[in-house]
This record gives sequence, structure tokens and C-alpha cells, in this order.
Amino acid sequence: MASRFTMWMTTPIHRDREPLIPPDAVFVAAGDDSTPPGVVPGRPRSGDGKSRRSGAVSPLVRRLTILMLVLSSCAAGPSPVDGGAGEPASTPAREEIRVPLSLYVVRDGGDATSGLSSARTTEEARVIADDIGAIWAAADIVFDPIRVHEIDVPSDVLRAISESLDAEPFFAQVGRTFEVPDPGVVTGFLVRVAGGVNGFAPTGGRVFFVVDEPTVHDERVSSHELGHIFGLRHAFDDPGRLMFSGTNGTSLSAEEQVVARYGLEGLRVGG
Ligand SMILES: [Zn+2]
Repeated sequence: MASRFTMWMTTPIHRDREPLIPPDAVFVAAGDDSTPPGVVPGRPRSGDGKSRRSGAVSPLVRRLTILMLVLSSCAAGPSPVDGGAGEPASTPAREEIRVPLSLYVVRDGGDATSGLSSARTTEEARVIADDIGAIWAAADIVFDPIRVHEIDVPSDVLRAISESLDAEPFFAQVGRTFEVPDPGVVTGFLVRVAGGVNGFAPTGGRVFFVVDEPTVHDERVSSHELGHIFGLRHAFDDPGRLMFSGTNGTSLSAEEQVVARYGLEGLRVGG
């Protein structure tokens, strides 16, 4: 397996094989926003699972599981033992978490006229990166350094993403038929189209894909996918929230901020 692949992919967590994690709680592939009938982007990639069916619980899973337990107890309100007698909860100052982010404008390296190349410029990608940073600043997560590159990817690889939301060939061929320089801890690929969705984040990974013309704001799609990568699930109560599917919401609840920061730390430790 290519080293870059393992660098990007955390110890895989497939929601159908890790019952300790609530369904959809973490690393759902985000078939956000405009998923057409019949497309189920959240399904585990069949090829991914085979070599990783170890029964051992990964440190990341343990970490997230513990976190979920902690959060669920926090959500119940202040406990009598925990300064609950009318004391205002003191929020300790948070440290900024700095995380390298790389964005790639993906061109069709085989046939420039195929219509599979992203039409974006690297300047546009940099604006998106800055706007992503503005959204995640709410959680004191700072994307730094930000790197933007153009990459050429074989037509068949892009076609699989474009037509069937299948990123397996992409991961199978990276480092072989095409290169991705300077990957960050989290990495986004700007592609022309992706199976009819605005963006997606393959299960268990630390990369996301965003299309050229999403139905919501570019930075919102990317930021939402990052939310999934950091361990957030969809929100259903308020369209103003980043994790509400299919809107331009950008807000992060206090709990989401905590979960995302822990999730991100897990990615960095697992890196
Ligand atoms: Zn989503």
C-alpha cells in the first residue's frame, strides 16, 4: 500500500464494524447536501475493509469512545460532584490547534478536453482555504500552513469519482500513477464533479473532495467535510449549523468544537 495512502488514512474505522462508535457518529462519508437517489456515499468502501478487519480496537477508537462517554455525561448537565451547585461553568482558555491543510486543484492529466478537470484556479483554492479557516476559527482550529497545488490525475481515476463517487482508484494509484506533493494533516481535492454530491469524505480518512459548483458555498462544503473528518455527525435541529446537511450554515456548537478538537488531536497523534 502506498505510503501516502497510509499517511492520509487513519486507522480505519468502519461504522458497520465498530459497534463502540454510534452509527454515523464519526467518519461518515459525507454525501452531503445533494445526494441523488441511489447514491449511498456513506457506505464503507469494499476494498478498504479487507485488510483491516482486525478485531483490535485502535487507540483512536478508544479515544473517541471515551470522548463520547465524557460528552454524554457532560450533556446531562452539571453533576453534583462537579461544581454543579449554581457555579457558572468555567471555560479554561483553549490553545489554538494548528493543523497543516493542503488543497489540490485536480486536473485531468490524460485528456485536458475530457471535461473532468477542475476549472478552479489555485488563487480560488487559496481563497477557499482562507474561508475555511474563518469558519473553524470558532473552535480555535487554525489551518497553518496552507498549501495549494495543481495536480494531474489519470482520466480513469477522475472518471470513477465523477461518475460513481468511487475514490478507491484514487487511493490505489496515488504515489504510483500520480503524485500529491506536500499533503497536510488534512487534505482537500477540488474536483470537477463527484457523483452528484457537493463533496464527500471517504470513511475513516483525512481527505475530502469538493466539486467545482456545489449548491452551497465552497468553503461551507469543505468545512463541513472537515467536520466529518474531525469526528462530527450531522446536526438536524438548526440549518444554521455547519453540520446541518445542505445549507450554508457555519455555526459550531460548543460540544462540536470540543469533539472536533479531540478528533483532530487523534488525527495528529495517528499521523
Ligand atoms: Zn455531511
